[in-house]
Amino acid sequence: MTTMPNWLKQRAFLTPERIAVSDGKQAKTFAELYEAAAAWARRLARAGVKEGDIVALLMKNRIEMIEMVHALFFLGARVLLQNVRLTSYELGWQLDDSGARLVIADEELAGRLAGDGRVLTVGALAALPEADVSLKETCDLEETATIMYTSGTTGTPKGVLQTYGNHWWSAVGSALNLGLHERDCWLAAVPLFHISGLSIAMRSVIYGMPMRLQASFDPKEANEWIMRGDVTIMSVVAAMLQRMVSELGEARYPDTFRCMLLGGGPAPRPLLEACKEKGIPVYQTYGMTETASQIVTLAPEYSLTKLGSAGKPLFPAELCIIKDGQPARPHEAGEIVVKGPNVAKGYLHRPEATAQAIRDGWFYTGDIGYVDEDGFLYVLDRRSDLIISGGENVYPAEVEAVLLSHPDVEEAGVTGVEDETWGQVPYAFVRLKRGAAADEAALRAFCRERLAKYKVPARIYFVDELPRNAAQKLLRRELKRLIPKTEQMF
Ligand code: ATP
Ligand code: MG
Repeated sequence: MTTMPNWLKQRAFLTPERIAVSDGKQAKTFAELYEAAAAWARRLARAGVKEGDIVALLMKNRIEMIEMVHALFFLGARVLLQNVRLTSYELGWQLDDSGARLVIADEELAGRLAGDGRVLTVGALAALPEADVSLKETCDLEETATIMYTSGTTGTPKGVLQTYGNHWWSAVGSALNLGLHERDCWLAAVPLFHISGLSIAMRSVIYGMPMRLQASFDPKEANEWIMRGDVTIMSVVAAMLQRMVSELGEARYPDTFRCMLLGGGPAPRPLLEACKEKGIPVYQTYGMTETASQIVTLAPEYSLTKLGSAGKPLFPAELCIIKDGQPARPHEAGEIVVKGPNVAKGYLHRPEATAQAIRDGWFYTGDIGYVDEDGFLYVLDRRSDLIISGGENVYPAEVEAVLLSHPDVEEAGVTGVEDETWGQVPYAFVRLKRGAAADEAALRAFCRERLAKYKVPARIYFVDELPRNAAQKLLRRELKRLIPKTEQMF
């Protein structure tokens, strides 16, 4: 068992006067954050929270949410972070699956769980008197700190158990790669209930670095903060970066802005090229809920020579590609398998899924990729989405990337459909840009110029909307439903 001083208490002792978090209007120092979190902890104790309990948070990005996470750490409770975009049914399912004792909800979100006796609003909690309890002064690195359900892109969500050690090593690995500058301030415009956002709050307290919070992503305001030099690092997914780049126009970011950490899914090449042109320091990264954020990141000196790569593993982590049970050769595609102290210890109440995912200390990600001769990772797709057509592998993401590079295409999704001759063939679903007029024949001709014949979509359907989950990820397995009933033969 390895223990450490409680992070917030230690930080408030080391650098009490430094700014911990600001939302652009209100700022708190680490000392103030500590006082606030300790007060919430004493109220949570009054509400019956005990060590080892699972307590859910259903909150939007605001300073109180960070306080609440630390308050629960002070009690040794495990924090279940819930996605505020989920439906009542999905939220209730997670609470039942996890066995959560209590949900602390923002007033405006509490209605989503109306009638559920486990809900306590932030306002109701604030009104409780503080109990006289002692707060935990240490944390055990092996203990579960937080639980996040995966976004369920490939199946039923599973509760990922993230330990204090996972968060610690994730923060350390990130700093060893990106460095830590005295004037750093990290912008969290991604949700704190996802690992991309929560990991910023963990780095803030571990590094003693201020963070900025956006209640919801606002590209204009984010650009203003970067332009003013308030923010030096920001975490984004491709859709966010796209909006910031459009909003930026001809302007350029100042040198104070040193890192745009881009992850969460494949990055469209045109976007990377646009960033290159504007001198935006994009660091591509690959990670997941189970790796407590980044595990592979591309260092900026390779952003041009290795464009499209997610990079190399962070210092304490390892990476391997497995094909047919054997390590693959460079450029040979296989399952991405990772190892490291930031990899979660498993799934809540799911020993079988855990044993299947983690074998000999290696985590099988379910993603497909390859490494080049220099050890750089290229993520191709998800294993479950792979299309096998006439014995050839077709990666939907590759076909989608080609469709997305057509000037008329706004969104594209590709999936495999059963075919008598080939076993499966790729079908594409496309949402055109407003006013655009490309037709199926034109798009197929465009694909034929850029893709091997077996990768060219056998059919292309035009749709108004693609199925996405609450995390805005494409649900490829639901694409088939968009085929008009008259044409469905399976
Ligand atoms: P579920 O596991 O329930 O299906 P999910 O995997 O979508 O959900 P997350 O943990 O939020 O849930 O997402 C991690 C996944 O996102 C990775 O496993 C990978 O498929 C994808 N991803 C992350 N970074 C990249 C990247 N740089 N390039 C391509 N895909 C990425
Ligand atoms: Mg996953």
